[in-house]
Amino acid sequence: MQKQDLKSKNLTELSGICSQLDLSKFKAKEIFKFIHQKAKTSIDDFTTIKLTERNQLKELFYISAIAPLKTEKAKDVLKIAFELGDGKVIETVFMDYGKDRKTLCISSQVGCPIGCQFCATGKMGFKRDLTVSEILSQVYFFAKDHKISNIVFMGMGEPLLNFDNVMAAAKTLNNESGLNIASRKIVISTIGIIEGIKKFAGESKQLRLAWSLVSPFDEVRKKLIGHKGLPTISETVAALKDYQNKTKRRITIEYVLLKEVNDSENDQQQLVKISKNLDCHINLIPYNSTGPNYIGGDVDKFRSSLKKIDPNINVTIRKSLGQDISAACGQLSSTN
Ligand code: SAH
Ligand code: SF4
Repeated sequence: MQKQDLKSKNLTELSGICSQLDLSKFKAKEIFKFIHQKAKTSIDDFTTIKLTERNQLKELFYISAIAPLKTEKAKDVLKIAFELGDGKVIETVFMDYGKDRKTLCISSQVGCPIGCQFCATGKMGFKRDLTVSEILSQVYFFAKDHKISNIVFMGMGEPLLNFDNVMAAAKTLNNESGLNIASRKIVISTIGIIEGIKKFAGESKQLRLAWSLVSPFDEVRKKLIGHKGLPTISETVAALKDYQNKTKRRITIEYVLLKEVNDSENDQQQLVKISKNLDCHINLIPYNSTGPNYIGGDVDKFRSSLKKIDPNINVTIRKSLGQDISAACGQLSSTN
């Protein structure tokens, strides 16, 4: 029989495994802690579990890990490319914003099926979804050396197209016997997948949602994003409103600013209009270069203009780190 990966099992599943193997129930929590809090990747390291019991576990299970291939460092940023079991490669970025804010930007897929023109991940196409373990392993690798306060699903891929694995990983990261990362400090960033937003609305956790609007006009947005099944802005806003009615949670509208593409006065007016339909905060993202086709817009000017239209609007500018090592938003990619 093929061995199974213990890292992908949640606490309830581990309890089931323990009872099958005649191990006492409280050992499930110990095993969970070894894997998800202490980042152990060998069953031999389960020091509080008896040797005979460890051997029993080893016959049926293993613990997966991902291998760091390449590390790149810049000021306050660390980017690591990891090789997965099948040779595919993903990237993960650690950002140190000082004080207690240390953010890990993780990947949810190898490549991305959405194919946005301005995004390096979009240009590489879609290879496959990441497993729960592969998502968690990115975090545990960095957690060995850093106290991570925030997790953002803003690396490679569209997290709501890998919904079950992303949610299972987020819940494990939030578990108090794991890294215990507050759910409101875990952000899922989406291009706007209606089915995913609906399912997300049914989740009890306080996880946060960010929507990448890209352009406030459907024709421009469709051209930039290129995905055939992309819902319209009004369909997405309706789904987000339902989500907010259910959860009462504020969302973020992410807006990557592209010169002469989505930075006109019309864009500003329309963006303000859309934002008034939602309980939201706008986060302007300076464009990070991914090729010669686009140039970044002036984010400071754009922000002031939004404020002139609506002085009460809540708008911030994302502090992008790591452009010099291609570790900033939209720059992650791999050839494998
Ligand atoms: N697929 C998800 C999450 C990953 S992208 C999504 O699109 O939301 C995370 C953010 O990076 C998105 O808001 C996206 O619009 C932005 N982004 C993509 N390419 C970029 C680039 N070249 N420069 C700046 N931001 C970019
Ligand atoms: Fe995919 Fe997001 Fe990049 Fe678009 S911006 S290609 S949805 S990762």
